[in-house]
Amino acid sequence: MDLASRISDLMPQVVEDLAALVAVPSVNFPGYDSAPVIACAQACADLLSEAGAEVTLVPGNSGVPTVRAEVPGPPGSPVVLLYSHYDVQPGSAPDKWDSPAFTATERDGRLYGRGAADDKSGVVTHIACVRAFDGRPPVTLRILLEGEEEYGGDFEEWPTTHPEEFADLSVALINDLGPVELGQPTFTTALRGITGGTVTVRTLEEPRHSGVYGGPAPDALMILIGLLATLTDDNGDCAIEGLSSGEWPGADYPEETFRELVGVLPGVPLVGTGSIASRLYSKPSVTVVGLDAPDVATAPNAIIPMARAKISVRIPPGVDAELATAALERHVREHAPFGVEVGFTPAEPADGTLIATQGDAQRIYAEAMREAYGRGPTEQGMGGAVPFVANLVSAFPHLAVIATGAQDPLARIHAPNESIDLAELRRSILAQALFLEKLAEASGVGAVGVAS
Ligand SMILES: [Zn+2]
Repeated sequence: MDLASRISDLMPQVVEDLAALVAVPSVNFPGYDSAPVIACAQACADLLSEAGAEVTLVPGNSGVPTVRAEVPGPPGSPVVLLYSHYDVQPGSAPDKWDSPAFTATERDGRLYGRGAADDKSGVVTHIACVRAFDGRPPVTLRILLEGEEEYGGDFEEWPTTHPEEFADLSVALINDLGPVELGQPTFTTALRGITGGTVTVRTLEEPRHSGVYGGPAPDALMILIGLLATLTDDNGDCAIEGLSSGEWPGADYPEETFRELVGVLPGVPLVGTGSIASRLYSKPSVTVVGLDAPDVATAPNAIIPMARAKISVRIPPGVDAELATAALERHVREHAPFGVEVGFTPAEPADGTLIATQGDAQRIYAEAMREAYGRGPTEQGMGGAVPFVANLVSAFPHLAVIATGAQDPLARIHAPNESIDLAELRRSILAQALFLEKLAEASGVGAVGVAS
């Protein structure tokens, strides 16, 4: 039987696997019970061993394990890493979901549920690839399912703390991404980095009556607002000096699609200059994500003595996140209105990543995509930093890394009504299985690797 029919036959099982995993609320955030996260690791492990893999659970310092599996191919065959994560964002706001967050529900060809896309779709892709070859894949598979992706933990350091897991790899397949649109196979080639910090303005010992003292007395909130306003220029572009930017060379984002996905209200303009893809992937962007000030409902007519804001800065790949943090700190200190001294506490910075697209493995994957989708791949950037990928690329610069998946723009990851398109998931699994087969052919039985 050819792989396309094999994967089609497997799809009911894939949906069953995915539904079983969605049912376990593996939210690895502070304040959430870690028991379901550990139970989800065990559920992944059970599915993998049932599919024919040798599985171990490796304890992590956040208290949840990494699921590690190895499925040997023929002796001397290339070793391929399959990476995805089984932890999920909180379900939150049950009234915003059309069906319960942790009950997988199929509607119009999509399976809804927290984690159905991000990233349990990646997990079931790996399990399906093991099943497709009846546990005897044409190359050696090393499967790592992380449980610490969404909030953070020590797994992201594995490329330096567990180098032996990566040193013998020919290719690393990262299954935590998706296509630019349904049916358009896509390599993700740029991941934005992140930095930021909390800025605090203190001006008075305590609140003071605004009628008695307002005028000369400095209002901490007004000063903070003045400072925050300097973070962007009149066009809405990031104005922090020393953060380089460029034009995105790949496909642009149609403005209408972007507005719809983001839910921009009618009549509200987009901000910034350059193509939308450039504003997303190759230019820095700055956002105020939190502000501490008195509640409007109970605010007295008093001058505010202290105010603070949390600033988040997304940086394009190639910009050093430590230097970007220093640039932000310099900016807030130099632009504080009236020379008021401000406090600054930096956030944990993470570099962005450029993923190379030249190489034998990428060429073979593109061929597999062409066969699975009936069209060749395109490239996109991605907003969220994936720290493990950044660390893998920097620790193993010559390793072929391929970042794909089935999470299309309608998947609403991290939001209510998250879902995965099941036809896209099938194509994505097929492309991966075909890649494994083609990689084995290209390297020849017993040959070592197709490094790029
Ligand atoms: Zn993810």
